[in-house]
Amino acid sequence: MSLKEIIEEIQKLNTADQHRLKQFFVNSLASYSASEPVFKEVSERKHKEGYTCTHCHSTKVVRFGKYSVKMDMRLIERQRYRCKYCRKTFTDVTNTPLHRTHLPHKWLGFIQCMIEGYSLRKASELIEVHYVTLFY
Ligand SMILES: [Zn+2]
Repeated sequence: MSLKEIIEEIQKLNTADQHRLKQFFVNSLASYSASEPVFKEVSERKHKEGYTCTHCHSTKVVRFGKYSVKMDMRLIERQRYRCKYCRKTFTDVTNTPLHRTHLPHKWLGFIQCMIEGYSLRKASELIEVHYVTLFY
């Protein structure tokens, strides 16, 4: 199920269930308010299943250097991997909703706004992300 489908399903719920879901997000994701724990959670979950190539699902994967991303004025180091089978590279966050986003810490706020049924414009004001970015 894609994130888009999940959001659509959430919007179909009645108000009481949406409220329950919101409480669930607030309670279970409260500790993820900073960006780094979000990444830690993602990489640990992936690593428990072993390194699997996100392109061909081969398990012949090796570490392939590190790279840095700038986030909240800080540099965060992330591991890059390479598949020995198809020779493509990928990272801890490839193919997760966090991939290609520079604002992972904004996701919780965005999810809450979707549950509240706010428009993108309203959500963009509340979580201080441009609504065009939210749209993408
Ligand atoms: Zn591969």
